[in-house]
Amino acid sequence: MDGNEKAAEPIDFNRARVASTYKDLSRQIVDTNDVVTRAIRRLQTTLDIASIVDIFYDELSNLMDVGQLRYQAPNENTYCLGENPGAHNCQFNLIIENTRLGKLSVCRKKRYSDDEISIIEFMASTVVFPLKNALMYQEAINAALFDQLTGLGNKRALNSSLHREAERAIRKQQELSAIMIDIDHFKLINDTYGHSAGDEILQQFATLITENFRKTDLSFRYGGEEFLLLLDDSSANNAALTAERLRQIIEAHNFSVANKTIKLTASFGCTSFDHKETLKSFVTRADKALYTAKKMGRNTVQINELTTQQDLYKQSAKEA
Ligand code: GH3
Ligand code: MG
Ligand code: MG
Repeated sequence: MDGNEKAAEPIDFNRARVASTYKDLSRQIVDTNDVVTRAIRRLQTTLDIASIVDIFYDELSNLMDVGQLRYQAPNENTYCLGENPGAHNCQFNLIIENTRLGKLSVCRKKRYSDDEISIIEFMASTVVFPLKNALMYQEAINAALFDQLTGLGNKRALNSSLHREAERAIRKQQELSAIMIDIDHFKLINDTYGHSAGDEILQQFATLITENFRKTDLSFRYGGEEFLLLLDDSSANNAALTAERLRQIIEAHNFSVANKTIKLTASFGCTSFDHKETLKSFVTRADKALYTAKKMGRNTVQINELTTQQDLYKQSAKEA
């Protein structure tokens, strides 16, 4: 560790703030008062972590040469600004009211003077409350939109994605497809190995499907052991090919709980969105295809297609 490096000691910014009276600060910090006031004002305008880091970098750059700024959030997401890192590193573990807010570090080629370290420390104290609010906001959003067990989007997230994706498909005149997946005989897994083993399998199942399709596709936990995938720019037949690939991967996979290997299969229902139908009809048709797959003996892929315009109007009339 370089002699000029500020070790990653936890700093309690509640206390740091109390300690940071003008009397204790260097002249340079008193001169930076305007920048600090402006930084605080700007930081209060956003709950977006990337924007907060942006503002912090911007304002600190007004006071000194910042080679590179890194912020690592508690969930390990890292935000990095500045192209000129160096060996001299000034790093803080941000903690407030016993809550860890991640790590903030500034590094550059030139040594830091004591005054500069005080400035970074003082500037860091302006960022902790905005960061805390942003992290809490992020957590609330995550809890509202993501399934706690699998980390996939929940039904609420699905509804907003469905609207967005359908609008995009219509605007771009592209196809949008859905795959509805239901694990076969999952009740038996719970009955044999217990509910918490069932939970672990659901997590492994969610990881397996997300690892095995395009990054642009969206995955949701639709219900207990049911999942829904949205595939943009994809026909029902393409969706069925993806589903068949997933079916084979799942069939071949060794799920494991408490050193036991568990084999599973799943059934799949695929369909593509007709630009004139309702979103409810689109999802219902994927569900119907899944129902057919179950009826045909499970561990299979089925497609539901609207055959005629008449079918479509009948469907919509029923929903109205
Ligand atoms: P099928 O092949 O017809 O789909 O049979 P199945 O047993 O999978 O379907 P069924 O609808 O009869 O049972 C679903 C089971 O999934 C029963 C329910 O307890 C279980 N399940 C739903 N959500 C969860 C969950 O979050 N955790 C666990 N461990 N089990 C769950
Ligand atoms: Mg099932
Ligand atoms: Mg089910």
